[in-house]
Order: sequence, then structure tokens, then C-alpha cells
Amino acid sequence: MRILLQFPEGLKQEALKHAKRLESEGNEVFVSASPTFGACDLALDEARSLKVEKLIHFGHAEFQHVDFNVEYVEYRIDAPLALLDKSLDMLKGFKTIGIVTTIQHVHQLNSIREFYERNGKIVVIGKPYGFAKRPGQILGCDVGSSASIDRIVDAHVYFGGGIFHPLGALLATTKPFLAIEPFGNRIEFIDRMRETYARKSRGKVLASLEAKNFGVMLTTKNGQHNAQLAGLLKKRIEEQGLSAAILAANTFDFESLNNMREFDAFVNTACPRLAIDDTDRLSKPLLSANELMEVLRMKRELAQKKSLR
Ligand code: SF4
Repeated sequence: MRILLQFPEGLKQEALKHAKRLESEGNEVFVSASPTFGACDLALDEARSLKVEKLIHFGHAEFQHVDFNVEYVEYRIDAPLALLDKSLDMLKGFKTIGIVTTIQHVHQLNSIREFYERNGKIVVIGKPYGFAKRPGQILGCDVGSSASIDRIVDAHVYFGGGIFHPLGALLATTKPFLAIEPFGNRIEFIDRMRETYARKSRGKVLASLEAKNFGVMLTTKNGQHNAQLAGLLKKRIEEQGLSAAILAANTFDFESLNNMREFDAFVNTACPRLAIDDTDRLSKPLLSANELMEVLRMKRELAQKKSLR
């Protein structure tokens, strides 16, 4: 069989091992060397160009159904639970806690829940909105497992690596948020970041008030492609007498976007995290759809005030 293998960045180091194993079983194997951000980002263009019969995507659960033969190979990683002891001190005073993690550690949620329950906590595990598949699992763009229980918990606990996942959950919730990074041996409340990101968002909106030309970013990635939203935002911009173009790419290269100097601001319709995590990589404001609507509303208000003078 002709097969294309695709690995997220953290697993690319295992590509050769899997390629050789599948070759030894009589397959013809290709390995995608493109950046990979999630199961929202299947290497379908490469798979079709190479005319492979199957794409094997490592490291993520299915994100959405696609019209191609895709096999998902999830990775489970057993992380040390030693930091849970330390977290008890920090969680003193919070009786009901919500716990979330990533797909790699979702099989450890029961052990974590039992640990906290043994130590007198009431543990709540929420449901994802739909892109994530397991209770208590979060993705950068699906933090339903935290957001859906924000009302009933006293604090949230994230167990897993990095800041990417807990940041999304933090911004969608209001309660104290403890991040436990078992491999980095770090444990801290990250609540202060809510204010930092709110300030950044306000700054982008204000910096876009003079913008006349908007670039609306539309990706061709299977799980991030939102042509309808891109079309709608372009229409809204033009209705206000401003100019917009839809910019298409698979993975957006920020250097190339910076070269598009005619645009005064960019609007993201791809992975929602771009307008949160990657804003500093562009010399012009990178707005979310909501931020764009706020810019347009404020522009209308300013225009009205001017006309009344
Ligand atoms: S956060 Fe972005 S990269 Fe991650 S799964 Fe969602 S759309 Fe994909």
C-alpha cells in the first residue's frame, strides 16, 4: 500500500522508525515534513498529490470526518503524578475543583480525580464542546471541558505540558487556574495572564481604528477552513466603505504577511489561537473576528460623532 505518515512537531523524531517498520511490511512509505499543528491540519494536499491510499496521522484523535482514508494513532504518555501532593497546599480553600488535560494524559484523569477525592476535594470533569472527544480533554480551540463547569467550581486545575492548552481554558473561564506541568516540574496559578491578554486585545482594537485595508486570512487546512466566515467578514468590512481581500494559504508564513504592506490589519479565520498567540509576529494588528467587529463598531461610532460636530 502507498502510505503517507504525518507527525506533529513533538513526534517527528519518531518518523524514521515508523517508516521503516511499515516498509518492512511491504508498504511504500512517504513522510510529511510540513509543519503539523493538530488533526485539524491533515496533510490531505500531499496525500492526494502523492496518490497515497492512506494517511496515517500520529499523535491526535480525530478532529472531524474527512473524505479520505485516514488512520489516527493516538499517543498516551504517563506523566509523573508527584506534583499533585504539592498542589494540595496551593488548592487549600478551594473545595470543588475542575480538572482538564490534553489527549496524551486523558487516561490519567481517573487517577488524578481519585487522588483529589481522597484528599477531601469534590472533583468535576467537564464535557468538551465537540472538537475534543473525551471528558476533561481540552484542545487549543475546544476548552468546553473547563468552560462548561466554570460556574460550579471554585478553581480549575490543568495537568499537562506547555502553556498553549491551559491559556485557552484560562481565557474562557473566570475562576483561579492552577497549571501543573509534570515534566517541567512546574506548578503555578496563571490567572494574571487573563489581564495581560485582555490588554493586548484592547491594544489591537485601538491600533486598528485608522485601518482602511484589511487582509482576511483563510487557510486550506481541513479543520480550520472557514470560507463562509471569511466571506462574511470581507462583506462587513466593505459595507463600511473599507477595503478587504481574502488571503489564502495552508500554513500562514508571517514573513510573507509582513511583506503585504498595503494591509493595515489582518483578520484571522484559521486556528482561533493565531490571533491570541501569534500577534507579536506581525508588524500590523492581527484581529480575531470578534475584535474586527469591535473595530467596525468603534469606527462607526467615531464617524457618527464626527458628523454631529
Ligand atoms: S487549536 Fe488550532 S491547531 Fe489546535 S486543534 Fe484547534 S484549530 Fe487545530
